[in-house]
Amino acid sequence: MVSRVIPVSSFDLVLFGATGDLAQRKIWPGLFHRFLAGQFDEQSRILGVSRSEHTREAFQARVQKAIAEEAENADDVARFLELVDYISLDATGERGWEQLAGAVRDGVVRAFYLSVAPRFFGPIARRLQQSGVATADSRIVVEKPFGHDLDSAKALNAELSECFEEHQIYRIDHYLGKETVQNLMALRFANSLFEPLWNSSHIDHVQITVAESLSVDGRGEYYDQSGAMRDMVQNHLMQLLCLTAMEPPSKFTPNAVRDEKVKVIEALEAVPVKDIARGQYEASGDQGSYREHAGNEDSTTESFVAMKVDVANWRWAGTPFYLRTGKCLRRRMSEISVHFRAPPHMIFPGTETPQGNVLVIRLQPDEGMTLHTTIKDPGPGGMRLTEASLDMTFADSLKGSEQPQDAYERLIMDVIRGDQTLFMRGDEVEAAWSWADPIIAGWTDRNMKPQPYDVGSSGPEDALLLMHRDGRRWRAIGS
Ligand code: NAP
Repeated sequence: MVSRVIPVSSFDLVLFGATGDLAQRKIWPGLFHRFLAGQFDEQSRILGVSRSEHTREAFQARVQKAIAEEAENADDVARFLELVDYISLDATGERGWEQLAGAVRDGVVRAFYLSVAPRFFGPIARRLQQSGVATADSRIVVEKPFGHDLDSAKALNAELSECFEEHQIYRIDHYLGKETVQNLMALRFANSLFEPLWNSSHIDHVQITVAESLSVDGRGEYYDQSGAMRDMVQNHLMQLLCLTAMEPPSKFTPNAVRDEKVKVIEALEAVPVKDIARGQYEASGDQGSYREHAGNEDSTTESFVAMKVDVANWRWAGTPFYLRTGKCLRRRMSEISVHFRAPPHMIFPGTETPQGNVLVIRLQPDEGMTLHTTIKDPGPGGMRLTEASLDMTFADSLKGSEQPQDAYERLIMDVIRGDQTLFMRGDEVEAAWSWADPIIAGWTDRNMKPQPYDVGSSGPEDALLLMHRDGRRWRAIGS
């Protein structure tokens, strides 16, 4: 399999929050990886911007540390660092803005990546616009969280749209940059095998799980203000649901794809309390409880949520989507599983009706897909049936071609290309909050407490009951 790296135009990327955790862990390594792949050339530049003072050399040393894992060749590192400069700037003050205005060049793509707290989005956007640093074709990238609820998302959208047109705004949900997530669209819309079956006549239900084994220790105070619903469901799981459920867009253009996603969100039914399980992990061994990590003994914030969601349209009526996400679960695992209906009639005597086929789309770990099928148990002894999997792990099937990129590197290159397909549109984010807000308000109004669950488990008992009640079972989180 041959992979083609299509070079992007030369750019000035201004990275606000260049010293922060996200930049160190994801953005700098991602940029270096793209540089090594030859996706951008030495005419491009990356201007790190943050509050603290660093000389160019000291900052480059920080970047070198951030890319150390990828850095096998000293020449490559030196060539990359040549493109890196640093400006100390106060997002809400005067310091640094003049220097920034003098540093950006004409004739190259201009992109501003705001890897800073959301309270800075508005002030930075305004300042970029007022100072003339932002031009009519500049791009601005903003990180999650995009709002805390519908009102705050609307306010952020309003602040950004005062200064930038929608076609210039790139709202990141890094799940959309994952190779498998894009493959979900290829699977559905570049093959004729699945799409005729992709509806409630053939699909019994869909499960979407994003399980994490880590606790919120270290970021508990921040997390306690959001919880699993805001931190994961409203954005990442919602995106996965949209891509699974959406109608085929007429073409693969940013707005055609995003129009279809918005229609899915708008078709979501309100979720009654009985269709939701909320949990909070308990202390176990050396591991503290959620409430200890959050520094809030009375916290009622959920570290786990599972729910049954109905998409009320012709394609999906009668096929529920079960969403589940949480911290401190048995294993780190993200997947979408599509559970086809069982065969309507069994012709093989003495055998049980097999389960329906299950198509599992794995996002992490080992991105890939597996189709669970029923086959004849090999050998003599009559017609006995057994299960077998058709497995495709991308790392295996892509041997010899470039390995899948990390989501961030893919998304940053899309920004430079000016391709918004994998970014959330303003109305899409607002639609997602419009759906999520009443669910959260329902918990708050009833003062509902999450159910405790054990560290390393699959979540609280209520989540299991949610499925059992419907005569279904969750797929195991880890074996
Ligand atoms: P962080 O580690 O706290 O870094 C914040 C950055 O903002 C630092 O570079 C800091 O500069 C800069 N900054 C703070 N105040 C400033 C000011 N007044 N003027 C200019 N720069 C200022 O945050 P982070 O974890 O990297 O997160 C950045 C954004 O990404 C947030 O919106 C977060 O929600 C989002 N995000 C983060 C992650 C993650 O894994 N970390 C994942 C998803 C989304 P100094 O260091 O110089 O003070």
